[in-house]
Amino acid sequence: MSATETTVELGAFIAGSAEPLSDPVQEIRDPATQRVVGRVTASAAEDIDRAVRAAHDAFAGWSARGVAERGEMVGRAAHAIRAAVDELAPLLTAEQGKPLREAQIELNKAAETLEHYAGLAKELRGAFVFGLDPGVSGQVLRRPLGVVGAIVPWNFPTTLLANKLGPALVAGNTVVAKPADTTPLTTLRLAAIMHDAGLPAGVFNVTAGRGADAGEALVTHPLVRKVGFTGSTPTGRRIMALAAADNKRLTLELGGSDPMIVLEDADLDRAASAASMGRFFNCGQACLAVKRLYLAESVADEVIEAVVQKARRLTVGRGAEPGVQLGPLHSERQRDALEDQLRRTLERGGEVLTGGGRPDNSELSDGWFHEPTIVLEPPQDSPMASEEVFGPALPIWRVRDLDQAIDYANASPFGLGSSVWTSRLDAAADAAERLDCGYTWINSATKVYDELPFGGVKASGFGKEHGSEAFDYYTDQKAVVVRTARRD
Ligand code: NAD
Repeated sequence: MSATETTVELGAFIAGSAEPLSDPVQEIRDPATQRVVGRVTASAAEDIDRAVRAAHDAFAGWSARGVAERGEMVGRAAHAIRAAVDELAPLLTAEQGKPLREAQIELNKAAETLEHYAGLAKELRGAFVFGLDPGVSGQVLRRPLGVVGAIVPWNFPTTLLANKLGPALVAGNTVVAKPADTTPLTTLRLAAIMHDAGLPAGVFNVTAGRGADAGEALVTHPLVRKVGFTGSTPTGRRIMALAAADNKRLTLELGGSDPMIVLEDADLDRAASAASMGRFFNCGQACLAVKRLYLAESVADEVIEAVVQKARRLTVGRGAEPGVQLGPLHSERQRDALEDQLRRTLERGGEVLTGGGRPDNSELSDGWFHEPTIVLEPPQDSPMASEEVFGPALPIWRVRDLDQAIDYANASPFGLGSSVWTSRLDAAADAAERLDCGYTWINSATKVYDELPFGGVKASGFGKEHGSEAFDYYTDQKAVVVRTARRD
């Protein structure tokens, strides 16, 4: 029987043990049908305390292992995830709503990220400085921090967790993860699979629960030394305030409103495909997505026509069904927020070129579906320009030139990603320097590489995930001064 037909029951995963379901219980519903697909223990302070203590107890043994051994264990756990993709993908689709193919892509990407850090284990280096003074040298040691709290949202529950788990575990930390309260199922199974693959008890624990109780209990627990958080900007700010009380370290990966700029000399076919893919993947619920499209006037009509046609051709439906390209939004709250944002925007101006409402299909009426939507020229200070659009709706503007596009792009409070499309090297380099964000693609968009540091600026947060740079955020660099000879 598939995950879409059964109801999965899972308690917390603490100290290597998949605990039985216990009160209070939270139901998990399929966003495409509202059917209950799972029940989990909605953990609060007591479970969080047990999980953090288990991670704390495991820390001494885990951090004392050789870094290559930790890398090998994380690599084996990643291999086990790959082997379990057929089991996990339907579960991820059932709780999140995304098409099955996208669930498989997500899970393989999570495994790939863990493999990347497993491979980097042997490269984790400190530094040695000769001759600070006569007979005196210096060392820079990298020390793990201790227990890390990893809090992630529902849009990519497993990859966003892997971004934290990989560098944290390889560097010698132990982890307590709290997935979003609506997508805990795959993460709880993931912890069990990684433990069965040899990850020692207590090294990786998972507790489901709401942000206000489980999340805050994790952030404020005195034994948690660092919080790796991905989620909305308001929650990031709340976590920052809570973490301040204890001087906890933070990485905050927050919201975004990525601009895509297409100049007159771009490859227009590729740009139109990237805009459509970048906007509608995961039903538009991605931090890195094409959220504002700026087109040079002379090519605007051609690109608009191509993007509108692509949006109209998307197959909207339940993620578990073959051939579906656009699933439902994740929740009623998400669809309400998108509809409200569209309404507030259109009151100010702008023209809907396609979509704009719910699909006219009674078979989809139980789910949180929304048509792929394109809005032309809403005012620059309207909600679709100034807020994050977290759903399948794309605003488009014509621009005079690169300068105007960059002015509009940088006017956003967010600074996560951006892309510029042109065949002119000088324009591309100029834009990459001036766009105020953490990641710029030239003639491509939205694909994140494990090899490069990723993270936002402004309201999009701070700190880096991916790249060897991520280790800086999961280790302390400690200076040691060594007098090796007496020469004074
Ligand atoms: P959210 O902030 O509501 O929730 C994210 C997580 O935080 C969940 O696990 C939630 O339970 C927890 N949480 C909520 N309140 C909390 C509190 N007071 N203390 C501790 N934990 C708390 O985010 P969301 O709306 O579920 O996710 C969508 C947002 O995430 C979007 O803004 C999106 O852009 C952002 N996001 C950013 C990135 C990135 O890498 N920058 C990636 C994906 C998503």
